[in-house]
Amino acid sequence: MHDFNEKKILELMIPSEKVAHVHMNNPLEHAMLVLIKSGYSAIPVVDTDFKLKGLISMSLILDSILGIERIEMERLENKVVEDVMNREVPSIHENESLLKGLKLSIDHTFLCVVNDEGIFTGIFTRRALLKQMNRYIHEMNRESVRPT
Ligand code: AMP
Repeated sequence: MHDFNEKKILELMIPSEKVAHVHMNNPLEHAMLVLIKSGYSAIPVVDTDFKLKGLISMSLILDSILGIERIEMERLENKVVEDVMNREVPSIHENESLLKGLKLSIDHTFLCVVNDEGIFTGIFTRRALLKQMNRYIHEMNRESVRPT
């Protein structure tokens, strides 16, 4: 597990430039479009300084416009992302070890990555972690069957 203590989240994360995200003050309808077009179930929310503020998902949006008998789409117009987002974001510092990422990834499909200032710098996905573990376990396996 040496590798997992040494390697940093920074080395395996998807950088923020490649992550679909929205701003707190974006209309909710915009967030809905980004979620539909990207196909992701949840995406990060940032403020104007690019600080991490929350997560928004399709189910949060739909729940916020759910009437008694139907989904009231017209209510989308009056809302911004901040009104609906989840402020409890699973996050990790970019300099933390993979081992810490492994622990947090048990409960979350992805973690938002931040720097010292709380600026959103990327995401660390369970997929990236499993790929790294797969590589590591296969290497260990090869070494253990190698003739001496
Ligand atoms: P994956 O590792 O591709 O299965 O992604 C797991 C989750 O991480 C997705 O459902 C999204 O919520 C999030 N995610 C992964 N890649 C991106 C991305 N490029 N932009 C935004 N969210 C992402």
